Amino acid sequence: MVFTIEVNGQPLTARRGETVLECLHRNGIKVPTLCHMEGYSPTGACRICVVEVEGRRDLIPSCSHPVEEWMKIRTHSPRVIRARKTNVELLLSNHPDECLYCERNGNCELQNLAVDLNIREKRFNGQKHAYKKDYASPAILRDPSKCILCSRCVRLCQTEQEVGAIEFFGRGSSMMIGTSYNRSLSLKNCHNCGQCVMVCPTGALYERQHIAKVQEFLHNRGARVIAHLSPSVAVAFAGAHGMRAGKDLNGLIASALQKIGFHKVYDTSAAIDIHIMESAAVLKKRLEKGESYPMFSSCCPAWVHYLETFYPQMKPHLNPVFSPMQIMGSLLKREAGENSSNTFVVAIMPCTAKKHEMQRPEMYRGDKLLTDAVITTRELSTLIKLHGVALDNIEPVFPNAPYHVRSTAARLYGVSGGTAEAIVRTLNYLLTGQELENLRISELRSNNLRREVKLKIGKMQIGLAAVSTIKEARKLMDEILAGRRDLHYVEVMACPGGCVNGGGQPFGGDDKEIKQRVKSLFETDEKENIRVAHKSPLVNELYQKFFDYPGSPSACELFHKAENQA
Ligand code: SF4
Ligand code: SF4
Repeated sequence: MVFTIEVNGQPLTARRGETVLECLHRNGIKVPTLCHMEGYSPTGACRICVVEVEGRRDLIPSCSHPVEEWMKIRTHSPRVIRARKTNVELLLSNHPDECLYCERNGNCELQNLAVDLNIREKRFNGQKHAYKKDYASPAILRDPSKCILCSRCVRLCQTEQEVGAIEFFGRGSSMMIGTSYNRSLSLKNCHNCGQCVMVCPTGALYERQHIAKVQEFLHNRGARVIAHLSPSVAVAFAGAHGMRAGKDLNGLIASALQKIGFHKVYDTSAAIDIHIMESAAVLKKRLEKGESYPMFSSCCPAWVHYLETFYPQMKPHLNPVFSPMQIMGSLLKREAGENSSNTFVVAIMPCTAKKHEMQRPEMYRGDKLLTDAVITTRELSTLIKLHGVALDNIEPVFPNAPYHVRSTAARLYGVSGGTAEAIVRTLNYLLTGQELENLRISELRSNNLRREVKLKIGKMQIGLAAVSTIKEARKLMDEILAGRRDLHYVEVMACPGGCVNGGGQPFGGDDKEIKQRVKSLFETDEKENIRVAHKSPLVNELYQKFFDYPGSPSACELFHKAENQA
């Protein structure tokens, strides 16, 4: 039901059931908040979103108050602004004064709010907490002294990721955010998805940076430093750099990386094509034998870690094929041969969990890593600035040969549903010798967190599901454990919508921005000719020259987990 309220002396349309904050935002009135998250229950914790309502003695938090017909609201009256300013000043009173050195300097919601509210002096001096930084996780760094107790991370980890790796503990002024018994962030339940980092308004949570390591490689004279760039980084970079959201900057980033001094810059998509070939071959084998399905995807390391931790009995169902990052590392270190100890592979990923994946036991050949550093899209920005590359003054280039050749199916890996669509295109070919009549599988491209479709391939009816967020994965897993048998391949991505919205992507990407990233990947798939991995000339050449066929002993040796690691 729609009705009219009065806001700042003007009539405004309100909808029954929405909060005052939702109503204001929908009507283009910006009211700041530090604790609110769209789609989550309000907490009213920060009290920055207060507004004045005629007839009410106290200011009300607009995020938790439903809109009512009689309301006359003032959103920016002197009293409201004074209250917001005081609330921010109180948060700043015990905040470490180290903005200049903070990871989020220039990109911190608290700092921005202080600027917007014209706070220019420190009126209150609160007690500073000397909490230690938590360096235990290979992917996420916690700095509790910068936490403003907004609880966004706690709510996200408990609801979307359903692991509750972080929680409140302590009371009163000693209350803080941490892990059970104030231990370090532990791999026992945290799967490094980085979604808590994405919602934290301050520098209390951020990724473990590998920039210094990459610079060390670049400054080492005898070293060959090779970068490879994930498709979901290429479409996420533009929006954060003042360009059209979703624009594919693969060529521009490759050019910037060459200027920085990387010896070669490749497209991770080439390794994705191999991942598609190997995964389709494994799935075909399992279907023919009638065993170990559904096969669960293995390219999201946060999901793999979650399954291994919480559903160890399902490990045999995981796809044994390495992730594309692992495959690229294998290929490049193999090619380097005896120079491999002087060859450094840097993966540029949308994901914080890849920083954990690179250290897994199967990621070593002997005592050497296959991937030497992982930098996120955010770190890529920093690296480019650090080396003084002016993006608006350089020309795009193709990534280096031979790993510049790819199918468009590989680009789909950035989106939830994309690995299922890409793999089934090749599976169909392996099973029938024909191409799918319609390569675009619309059911896997919906906006839902769970997508399912049944496809007739040859004589078989194949069930595919794609879910994003661990919450959705757990629901589906419960159905499977309860006896559901109609699914043959299940793709899981821990981040909502997939890698385009990964935990290493630029801060501040809203729904509209994420949709543009997805659109860009789908458009590439619609307009190019090589749309299936098995038609990529590079893939065919590699199998012909080195790996015989997908699933061959030589391919398994390089691209699959050993049996005992599955
Ligand atoms: S990285 Fe993911 S699982 Fe770990 S604490 Fe953050 S949201 Fe939770
Ligand atoms: S760590 Fe960040 S997101 Fe979590 S409560 Fe503190 S400020 Fe909020």
